[in-house]
Amino acid sequence: MESELQQLKEQAEEALQNINNDQELESFRIQYLGRKGGVITGLMRRLSSVDKADRPRFGALANSLKNEIEQLFEQKKNALGAGLSTKGASDIDTSLPGRFLPFGKLHPITQVMEEICSIFESLGFAVAEGPDVETDYYNFEALNIPPHHPARDMHDTFYVTDSILLRTHTSPMQARIMEKQDPPLRYIAPGKVYRCDSDITHTPMFHQVEGFLVDKQVSFADLKGVLTSFTHHMFEKELALRFRPSFFPFTEPSAEVDIACVICEGKGCRVCKKTGWLEILGSGLIDPEVMRMVGYDPDVYSGFAFGLGVERIAMLKYGIDDIRLYYENDLRFLSQF
Ligand SMILES: [Zn+2]
Repeated sequence: MESELQQLKEQAEEALQNINNDQELESFRIQYLGRKGGVITGLMRRLSSVDKADRPRFGALANSLKNEIEQLFEQKKNALGAGLSTKGASDIDTSLPGRFLPFGKLHPITQVMEEICSIFESLGFAVAEGPDVETDYYNFEALNIPPHHPARDMHDTFYVTDSILLRTHTSPMQARIMEKQDPPLRYIAPGKVYRCDSDITHTPMFHQVEGFLVDKQVSFADLKGVLTSFTHHMFEKELALRFRPSFFPFTEPSAEVDIACVICEGKGCRVCKKTGWLEILGSGLIDPEVMRMVGYDPDVYSGFAFGLGVERIAMLKYGIDDIRLYYENDLRFLSQF
């Protein structure tokens, strides 16, 4: 009997030495210390069948073996750094995948705006931002739109006071930068603009990116080159460009720029109203009058400017036909980008 206990002790010690993880430790606990069918429990049960004379000695030996094995088990548990209760260890399934919260994303307009900025930055343009609440002077007068000029009617302005307003375009940044710096200048100004207008293609707040370049001997060919390069990058297609004569008070000559329809590539479809062309921006050479207002000599310097609607570009890029979807904050729509 004593040799049997000694053998059991050696077996247990050896088994403990070979244990390397919590799972093995737990199997050991069940095998030796488990209440049902554990080796030690079995030993205790056998006490009743032992000779009465031998029973106390045998009982004491079995108890001390139990204590020793329990102690060795605790040591091993601490050594493994398990820190788990022997009961809890089996309740934790480390192979289960974790719980993930849904990822947040940038709004599609922000994504397109950042893409526009990065394309122009790669062409050497710097990014400048200005105030949403603007003075009448920078929004209109410095851009060659004096009071009572008919062009003001086109803008549906939100006025704060007689001389303070919510900017109707990002063009004020042109005057703000030009009056502080001397050419050569190459800037884009992204941001929010506001107009009192709302329907399927207009929202009271929308986003524009204004761009301009001033240097010596800047021509319409430079404007065409920059915008062609931009549209090819933006739509990832070598789309044809068309310049249509237009009028803006702060550029002369002025042109509206169309690209070959991104959907039908010029064949004619519902989006381009069968024309094969889509208007994407307004542009022109900076009016000499605007140059004079900031103290540049228009006989020495020339430049071009353009302004594009970010929502418009995003609608064409993603094939969306209602601008209001961008601002309804419906996650089913937003999560697609
Ligand atoms: Zn089309």
